[in-house]
Amino acid sequence: MAKDINPKCKQCRRAGEKLYFKGERCFSPKCAMVKRNYPPGFHGPKGKKRITDYGQQLSEKQKAKRQYGLLEKQFKLTFEKALRQGGNTGHNFLKLLEMRFDNVVYRLGLARSRSEARQLINHGHFTVNGQKVNIPSYNTRTGDEIKIKSNKKDIKIFKGLPEKLKNAETPGWLNFDSKNLDAKVLHGPGKDSITPNFNMQMIIEYYSR
Ligand code: SF4
Repeated sequence: MAKDINPKCKQCRRAGEKLYFKGERCFSPKCAMVKRNYPPGFHGPKGKKRITDYGQQLSEKQKAKRQYGLLEKQFKLTFEKALRQGGNTGHNFLKLLEMRFDNVVYRLGLARSRSEARQLINHGHFTVNGQKVNIPSYNTRTGDEIKIKSNKKDIKIFKGLPEKLKNAETPGWLNFDSKNLDAKVLHGPGKDSITPNFNMQMIIEYYSR
């Protein structure tokens, strides 16, 4: 699968906020947004440029797309799917993004970032309803049971997770048994359970041009 190979920290600096691609590093003083909180470029920090309406829409779209780790084609196709569903396009779109398998694994805390979640899924570490699923874009559904394959539970990346996730907060639309690292999708995320750090209205306007 094609992937965005732009340096992750530069993507945050371009967006002007943390997009949390690097797990624990993002919460440490080593974070590039702490050390160099200005857009990347050879000439260092400059004054703020005036941004047009189009520029703002584009930047919100880029921020959301990068955060979920999608390429333009996938992101646009997901938006079009949300549009076809009728009703509130913004909420449909967020729901589709949130219910992607890689995002669910990340939200459960089984991976430190969405890119790590994608890697773990690609390596076939998980099952959904007893079947191996190694497609990060798989759209989870209500009732799906997500488990780590029994022969993978002892690998380094999952060791110590039950203890670490014992008191972790899981979104209300997911049920998580931190002891066994098993999860179930209870329902799609409701409007109040997702608080995106991007402006969905601007993304809708961007694609409605
Ligand atoms: Fe972004 Fe994390 Fe890099 Fe900080 S450390 S700039 S939050 S990817």
